[in-house]
Amino acid sequence: MDRNELEKYNVGENLDALMTLDPRGYGVCRILYAGSRAHTGAPLTMAAAEALCGELKENDPVFILTGFVLLPHRVPEMDGMVSSMLLCRALVLAFNAKPIIICPEDSLEAVEKCANVVGLHIYRDVRTVMELPLSMGVIPFTKDAKEAEAQSEAILSQVMPKAVISIEAPGANALGVYHNAVGKDVTELEAKADVLWKRLRAMGVLNIAIGDLGNEIGMDAIKEHILRYIPFAAPGECACGCGGGILADTETDHIITATCSDWGCYGMMAALAYLKQNMDILHREEMEAEVMRVAARSGMIDMTGSLLPGIDGFNTRMNTGVVSMMRQCTAYALRYSHNSDHWFGPVLEKGFFEAAERGTQRG
Ligand SMILES: [Zn+2]
Repeated sequence: MDRNELEKYNVGENLDALMTLDPRGYGVCRILYAGSRAHTGAPLTMAAAEALCGELKENDPVFILTGFVLLPHRVPEMDGMVSSMLLCRALVLAFNAKPIIICPEDSLEAVEKCANVVGLHIYRDVRTVMELPLSMGVIPFTKDAKEAEAQSEAILSQVMPKAVISIEAPGANALGVYHNAVGKDVTELEAKADVLWKRLRAMGVLNIAIGDLGNEIGMDAIKEHILRYIPFAAPGECACGCGGGILADTETDHIITATCSDWGCYGMMAALAYLKQNMDILHREEMEAEVMRVAARSGMIDMTGSLLPGIDGFNTRMNTGVVSMMRQCTAYALRYSHNSDHWFGPVLEKGFFEAAERGTQRG
């Protein structure tokens, strides 16, 4: 480990810690993090950001799968959507990439209105997205399981992504049933985009999945851990009587778990800003609040069902606070850390972090 690696490791630790703060106090985020950290063997946010940096080039299309429709109002939630919009902006700034959101039809209005807030032109026609600068795409994905393969085929015949990122996207369990957080059957409400996800993974496309419970795309990567410790996950524990549990039957190569999925995505974006040495990549606090407000006014709801701007029960102040701390911790490292000649060398000589890193290595 050298000075750069030590700094990168600790910036990653900061971002992982911020995305797993647990104001609710029941600890699900910490349970998930223990599993995904052991699985990854390194800070999750930094590992995912490094994977993106290793893969993406100018004009590369990136799919972002999001949009969880909630009971009882049958309306999509803010978590996943807010960070997906801001991630589109981050990918354009970092790589000049071509982000394309794939979501249920219910989310279209919010996506199109929020695109303006993050400064991107939005088109449903993928060819226009590929042609024009500062643009993003949106594609509504079917809720009919029988049509999901055909639509996946149709989309991929138009555009082949270099990466796919799912953020709070519903995933069916091994029996094909989609569940909400407490184990109710929400199959008819959700887009079947996990079909497209599986196809892209099978083709070897870089994939990153962000979740906050276990019923989201990608969470099968830490299957044993979730089945053991997360409520409603083990077979027979769901409330719908399907005989399964809420665990999504989709794996991922890069997992991020956080208190709410949006925080996990902000952590990854902050890590990207660090690696690219460009703090603009992570949006400012004002834009966070503005996207939340516009999403709410376009009909998106908080986890609680409220139409006031909220992500999994956290208001604009809490979310801008998390973004603010991520910004400040990352910007500090970029500006000042390397000036600290007195500390990096002597700390490295003692070897603590080599031992710590080995301790979290897989196997
Ligand atoms: Zn069930």
